[in-house]
Amino acid sequence: MDEQTHFGYERVAPEEKAAKVGAVFDRVASRYDVMNDLMSLGLHRAWKAFAVAIARPRPGERLLDVATGSADLARSLASRVGASGEVWLTDINASMLARGRDRMIDAGCSAPAVQCNAEQLPFPDRHFDCVTVAFGLRNMTRKDLALAEMTRVLKSGGRLLVLEFSKVWKPLEAAYDLYSFKVLPWLGKRVAGDEAAYRYLAESIRMHPDQDELSRMLEAAGLARVEYFNLSAGVVALHRGYRF
Ligand code: SAM
Repeated sequence: MDEQTHFGYERVAPEEKAAKVGAVFDRVASRYDVMNDLMSLGLHRAWKAFAVAIARPRPGERLLDVATGSADLARSLASRVGASGEVWLTDINASMLARGRDRMIDAGCSAPAVQCNAEQLPFPDRHFDCVTVAFGLRNMTRKDLALAEMTRVLKSGGRLLVLEFSKVWKPLEAAYDLYSFKVLPWLGKRVAGDEAAYRYLAESIRMHPDQDELSRMLEAAGLARVEYFNLSAGVVALHRGYRF
C-alpha cells in the first residue's frame, strides 16, 4: 500500500498534505491574527511569551523561527537579540510569510524572510544558536524529517523550542472537545468565513503526538536534555532540547 499521512482525520498521500495545508493558510492568512486572539481568548500571547522566556535569547545570537506565520515569536525574539543579533523568518506559505515580514517591518525590525519547507531547510549545518517553531510542526507532513533538519542547523549547545497544541488534562477533555468541534468551526465560519479550516485545526490537534511521544521524537532527531512544560493544563506544551 502507498505511504499515507493525515490531513486532520482524513488519510491523504504525503504530497497531497502540503498542498491542502497550503490552501488552508492561503485562505485564513488575512484573518489569522484576529482568529488567534478570539480562539484562545488572547492566551496565545502568553504561551508565546513563555516560549521566548524559555528560549532565553541573548544579544548577538543568530536565531531561526520556522513556520513563522505572522511572526509573533520572531518579533519578540528580535527585540531580545538586539541589533548585533539576527532573526531569520521561514515559512512554506507565501501569504503567511508576507504577513510575517510586513509585521516585522511595522515593528521596526529588519529580518531576512525565506520561503521554504521545514523538511528541507536551506541553511548550513550548525548555523543557529536557537531554532523555534510555534504551532507549525503539527502541519508538517514528515515531522521527523523537519525535526532532524531543525536539529542539523543548530550549533553545538544550541536549543530547539517547539510550541504546539498537545494532550489536555483528562478531566477537561469533554469540555475541550465541545469547544474544539462546536465553537471553533462556528467562529471560523463567522470571523474568517471558513468553517473547514478551523475544523481541520481541531482534528489536526487530536492527531498530533502527545507530550511524551513528541519528547521521544526530539530525542530521535538527536536532541539531548529534552523536557517539556505544560501550559493551560496541556492544551499547549513547550518542548525544549539541546544539540551537542
Ligand atoms: N508560528 C506562527 C504562530 O505561532 O502564530 C504561525 C503558526 S500557523 C498555525 C502554522 C504555520 O506553519 C503556517 O504559516 C504554515 O504556512 C506553516 N507551515 C506549514 N507547514 C510547513 C512546512 N512544512 N514548512 C514550513 N512552514 C510550514
